[in-house]
Amino acid sequence: MCGIIGLTHAVQSAHDVYRGLLMLQHRGQDSAGILSWDAATGMFHSKKQLGKVADVFTATDLDRLKGAMALGHTRYSTIGDVKESDLQPIAGVMPIGIGLVHNGNLSNYAALKQSLLAKGRAFLSDNDLEVILHLMSGAFVSSPTAPLGERLIEAARTVMQRAEGGYSVIGILPGLGLFGFRDPHGIRPLIIGERDEADGRKSYAFASEDAALGFVGYRRVRDVAPGELVWVPSVGDEAEELHSRSLVPRGGLPCMFEWIYFSSADANLESVPVYETRLRLGQLLGARVGAALDPSTIDVVSAVPETSRISAIALAETLQRPYREVLIKNRYVQRSFILNGQDKRQVAVSMKFSVVDSVIAGKTVLLVDDSIVRGTTSRKLVQLLRQHGAARVYLASSCPPIRHPCLYGIDFPDRKDLVAAGRPLDAVAQALDADGVFYTTLADLETALGRPFCAACLTGEYAYGAAA
Ligand code: SF4
Repeated sequence: MCGIIGLTHAVQSAHDVYRGLLMLQHRGQDSAGILSWDAATGMFHSKKQLGKVADVFTATDLDRLKGAMALGHTRYSTIGDVKESDLQPIAGVMPIGIGLVHNGNLSNYAALKQSLLAKGRAFLSDNDLEVILHLMSGAFVSSPTAPLGERLIEAARTVMQRAEGGYSVIGILPGLGLFGFRDPHGIRPLIIGERDEADGRKSYAFASEDAALGFVGYRRVRDVAPGELVWVPSVGDEAEELHSRSLVPRGGLPCMFEWIYFSSADANLESVPVYETRLRLGQLLGARVGAALDPSTIDVVSAVPETSRISAIALAETLQRPYREVLIKNRYVQRSFILNGQDKRQVAVSMKFSVVDSVIAGKTVLLVDDSIVRGTTSRKLVQLLRQHGAARVYLASSCPPIRHPCLYGIDFPDRKDLVAAGRPLDAVAQALDADGVFYTTLADLETALGRPFCAACLTGEYAYGAAA
């Protein structure tokens, strides 16, 4: 999972991209990068580095990243380790200049890379975006005399026809402008924004979340549709306009995890607000807990900070039980789920929370989390609450049981790592050391979202075919 943003027309777009990246930091903390295109000199400029956005860029860097078009990226590694060569954005200069960022994962990455290697292509990284760059470059070679816009359409169509998985891409094509596209099922998000510039013209941007666009002054226009390419010619003094082409639409199946966990609470995806969805999930989960347990036996409802708080408060209201803050988060430790590697996660959990003893001593606590993936955090937290005096600890998850790997960009690829895989609920509770565990059902999730979505990690039914 990553955060991406691209925009054009500002005098120095890198400054706005930087501000947008700050609003996308929660989508990945491994690295940050910006690539700009300076039409005056015909140069790409870039800086990308391991670390968080505010640590990677100085004001001097942003001044050096000249140009009216720029792309930004915050990385959370799925394919490839966290190493310098895998960082984004990336740029190619043969057979044509092109700059790219992406969010997602190609489930047929290995096969595509092998077929490209067999044709004599070479790679600089283990990043699946480099496969997309090769596919696009190959399509540009095959139609060297066609207008640039037509060649871009063929390049994006080639990617959508050959690359399986969840991916959203933003790119700069010097000589044409800025573009963005989503995979045929629209698994990863991509939003278009527009802004009125001081000279009376409009400019456009793409980003993973509309909250990031709003932060830099763009109004939400709409989501890029599944299998759609959108581009903004922005060369010379011509007014910018949105152009679009539906290339390989296969029915939208956006990742349900965006609403449950990843996206910012103030984001709107596919016109479904994240905040309202989390509220509704809490209400529905509350009804399920109330049907299974006498609510009066629960003394305190609390949340695992931060993303589950909205659902936890709604759940407490539904059960008419008091909501209290029990876990106090050390905000300077990274989110444990986003840290890759089990060892790092274990360390992060123990460093991350302290407990308000007075609220839980001798009490029955219902702790709400947005999801239970490996169970690492949940088990540690249950034990922590017991150590601090809780008499009983129940867990509730606003995501249904995750029993299958995600092939499309979320880091739970191995079934054996998933605590709910192959276990009935009482065995999950036992594995988590909890007195009971409650989950939102798939039907409740369908009610809360009110639209089709990818649920492959819940059902094992994959948009692009069976798990390898
Ligand atoms: S499998 Fe799960 S986490 Fe992965 S894209 Fe689908 S809904 Fe999202």
